[in-house]
Amino acid sequence: MSAAAEIITPSRETQDFLAQKHQLLIDGQWVDPLTSNQTTEVHDPATESILANVPCGGPDDVDRAVAAARAALKGEWSQITSHERGRLIWRLADELEANLGLAAELEVLDNGMPRHIATYSIMAAGINHLRYYAGWPNKIYGQTIPVSPGGAKNGETLTYTVREPVGVVGAITPWNAPLPMVVLKLAPCLAAGCTMVLKPAELTPFTALLLGHLSKKVGIPDGVFNIVLGHGREAGAALVEHDDVNKIAFTGSTEVGKMILKQATGNLKKVTLELGGKSPVVVFPDADIERVIPGAARAAFFLQGQNCMAGTRLFVHDDVYEQVVEGVAAMANGFKLGPGLAPDTELGPLISADQRETVMGFIEAGKASDAELVCGGEALGGKGYFVQPTLFGHTNMDMKIAREEIFGPVLCVQSFGDCDLETIAAETNKTIYGLSGSVWTKDISVAHRMVALIDSGQVAINCHAAVDPGIPFGGNRQSGWGREFGMEGLEPYLKTKATTVRF
Ligand code: NDP
Repeated sequence: MSAAAEIITPSRETQDFLAQKHQLLIDGQWVDPLTSNQTTEVHDPATESILANVPCGGPDDVDRAVAAARAALKGEWSQITSHERGRLIWRLADELEANLGLAAELEVLDNGMPRHIATYSIMAAGINHLRYYAGWPNKIYGQTIPVSPGGAKNGETLTYTVREPVGVVGAITPWNAPLPMVVLKLAPCLAAGCTMVLKPAELTPFTALLLGHLSKKVGIPDGVFNIVLGHGREAGAALVEHDDVNKIAFTGSTEVGKMILKQATGNLKKVTLELGGKSPVVVFPDADIERVIPGAARAAFFLQGQNCMAGTRLFVHDDVYEQVVEGVAAMANGFKLGPGLAPDTELGPLISADQRETVMGFIEAGKASDAELVCGGEALGGKGYFVQPTLFGHTNMDMKIAREEIFGPVLCVQSFGDCDLETIAAETNKTIYGLSGSVWTKDISVAHRMVALIDSGQVAINCHAAVDPGIPFGGNRQSGWGREFGMEGLEPYLKTKATTVRF
């Protein structure tokens, strides 16, 4: 069995972008690493061919990028009005929209996702996100506080707060949705008036580099947005440990998130963490099964399951268990696997041979357990890191496949009978994660009571993973610290200063 390994030629514009010399962006200049002579081969996961070689920066490059970001914080950027800051962010959105075709092709080649998903995600979580935050700079304000400190009488003092940019932000992003992951940090960072040093995932650097080019084109001042390519354990760790970085905004695995917390203690910089997930999808017998089946299939297999919000644990009432499992398995079997550039592709490859090996290890553990393999279960032969969408029935929370984040196209189904909602919710909460989730029912009381009982940062009713720039997103428990998106997503980029005037 093999995926359609057709070779589809990307546009001339994309080929030219990939063929150019790739460099680091520091203080508005494209530069080579100072001393590191390491490079990374970036592969197309659908064909395993090399797309380009990119340089790996080292700690000395992080040093000069942080110095540039620090200087920019005090320079022209600090003089720009809030209106102008908003306008620059909006112009970046316009430029990204004008280059949507190029950005989507780069994302497809780099990550493997189907083109329509790349286009949608760049629009929804890239361009719209920038436009949402473009509206914020002139709405960031403090308070006046009606107190009389130090024994003053009424009218003898005035106390107020102002919100200031937190400073230099180190952003570290994963490979699963490369461009949105950068924009989720860059947009609030710019809106707050901070500066950034970005270390994107070494497997998927191209759309971050495209954003670097566009940021220069729209006139974001030199040093405000810097990019250091490189390995997490070198460039990433140097950024996290840097004493002149004020905040780390990290998205990635829970394991690396914990390391980052330890590495960040030197100067007690602020840290936000968007980490892993193992989200539940809970289906009650009265739910609209025609909506549940495609909803559950997409919740599990969107981005080949390489999605932190993926609904990878499906809890279904006994009465509709067979119907739901049959329907989701039929959809999974029907998904067209192939290279993301092919117009009919619905599921692409996994990101790398390593990721395929990890996912297949979980699938083998599932096969060796008492779970029922309903469909899938194999990696495809030939070129590309393709794995069949896989569904295990009759799982339980003692099984490794049901407990741990797989980050691949593997869905575990568990049934429940007539029991109280607390018992069902307790099963959904039996992981270390708490990122997303959904409840499917027509009973509004059941829906809202379940939402209250599921310990996740986001729980949807009759849909899964409702994403919009205005909806706060982030994890409870070991799914992370803090929130991105919306007004709450701006908070970590700000600090409060309180002032009292004695008349
Ligand atoms: P990793 O945690 O392996 O890597 C994420 C980023 O951290 C990469 O840029 C990586 O660099 C870097 N990194 C690795 N080690 C260090 C270190 N010691 N110090 C600093 N930086 C480091 O995650 P993946 O890239 O494999 O992404 C998958 C994970 O991300 C999944 O667990 C998924 O759930 C989570 N995720 C969470 C999301 C959320 O919003 N909650 C969204 C998307 C993904 P390098 O390039 O060298 O790997």
